[in-house]
Amino acid sequence: MFRAFRRSLGRKLLVAAALPSALGALAGVLWLRQQASHGGPGSDLAFRLATGGLIFFAVLVPVVHAVAIRVLLENPLRRLAAAMRRTQGGDFLQRIEAKGEDELAGLARTFNATLAAITDLHVLRIDDAASLRAMERELALKAQLEARVRELELLHRLTEALAATLDLETRCRKVAELAAARSPAAPFALLLEDLVTGDLVIRSLAGLPGELMGRRLPQGSGLVGRAAAEGRPVVMEGAELTREWLPLAEPPAAAVAMPMLHQDRCVGVMLQGLASAAAFDETEARLIGSAARLVATAIENARLHQSMVRLSQTDHLTGVHNRRQFFARLEVERERAARFGEPFSLLLLDIDRFRELNEAVGHAAGDAVLRQVAALLTREARAVDLVARSGGEEFAVVLPRTDAAEATRVAERLRVAVVETLFEGAPGGRVTVSIGVAGLPFHTADLATLVDFADAALFAAKRAGRNAVRAFEPGQAEDPARRRDVGTTGQP
Ligand code: GH3
Ligand code: MG
Ligand code: MG
Repeated sequence: MFRAFRRSLGRKLLVAAALPSALGALAGVLWLRQQASHGGPGSDLAFRLATGGLIFFAVLVPVVHAVAIRVLLENPLRRLAAAMRRTQGGDFLQRIEAKGEDELAGLARTFNATLAAITDLHVLRIDDAASLRAMERELALKAQLEARVRELELLHRLTEALAATLDLETRCRKVAELAAARSPAAPFALLLEDLVTGDLVIRSLAGLPGELMGRRLPQGSGLVGRAAAEGRPVVMEGAELTREWLPLAEPPAAAVAMPMLHQDRCVGVMLQGLASAAAFDETEARLIGSAARLVATAIENARLHQSMVRLSQTDHLTGVHNRRQFFARLEVERERAARFGEPFSLLLLDIDRFRELNEAVGHAAGDAVLRQVAALLTREARAVDLVARSGGEEFAVVLPRTDAAEATRVAERLRVAVVETLFEGAPGGRVTVSIGVAGLPFHTADLATLVDFADAALFAAKRAGRNAVRAFEPGQAEDPARRRDVGTTGQP
């Protein structure tokens, strides 16, 4: 009861209004009673009427007060309190009734205005959060775009570097240089498949010991072998990587081996060190994959170019250089001789009585003899010398940094080697050759003349009975019996 009184402003006001009126009525009744005891007849009725009026008044005043307090004070205050509780619960969109001009209506309006301000703030916060999210999305998109641009830039640089040369070795080296420029701390190796053995051979590297260059890894072995065999990227880290990593090199934290596929054939593998296996994410996979495809095509093109060049320089029957390459090399040697003042010599070598050999054993056996002579000359020549088939059964040997006297000794050695060799398909296994020698600048400074002089010396060797070596001597070139075709010998 007392608690209900304490918690109700209406009840307190009611008591405040009822108490004075009840006390007033009581005082009035007591006073009237005293007057009535001294009064005459009829005063008792008056006393009763006055007492009834006072009691009625004492009851009416609190009732009117109670109604007024409930309607004017309690109800608006309850509404305000309920609204405040709803606000506390998060409802900022409600508004309470604010009729009239009194303080409570003013309070309700102020409350409504506060709610409106809070709602505005809330809307602003929602807007801010939305724009923050939009900004975050834009930033993520920007980061993605930047990564994509970096990828494209790298692929562009790779394409440019590869397009700058057709040479296989240079292309391999440029790929390693770009990989090192992109991740200087990570090891990188480019391995190409050996077309004969199927081994993977390290053709360029970065961040790895130099002695690994040219190292062969047998088919299917290690991390790179697995990537080549499976035709898909293989990522390893930790103890597994330590087991499967390259020999002679410290393994990184993680690595990926990316097969280089050209028309579904694995031409090699790109091996890239990583900070962790997780670093090989979607972006990295796409980038290394694209680079591997690009490099695979470039490697195949370079190989194709290499074999075309080799074909255009090689004599198809014997495998030694062809006539065009012979003359190209003469030009190179002439320039070198002019620049450094060094001599060089030319041997023209013709198989003796080859027509008879052909007639005796047939053209195919003659071909086999030509191949064996070519192989013998290649074996006997130094790496710097050039052996070429200059005509039907004629060969040329260009000897850089060799004067005519030394060249004559080389020619003699070759002649003896031919004599001492058993040739499969030749009658009795025996073949002989005649060799003419001319040197530059000893005999002439002019290339055409040099070839002509060697040819004249060869002609002289034939006239001397064949199976002979002759160095050029003045007068040989004027022999009227000699045909003057460059690179061919006439019959004595
Ligand atoms: P000489 O000792 O004077 O050089 O006599 P020769 O018979 O070798 O001379 P000649 O130049 O008259 O004959 C060359 C022969 O080489 C003619 C041709 O039948 C033969 N010949 C040329 N090219 C080839 C070839 O590619 N294969 C074969 N089997 N024979 C060839
Ligand atoms: Mg001949
Ligand atoms: Mg001939």
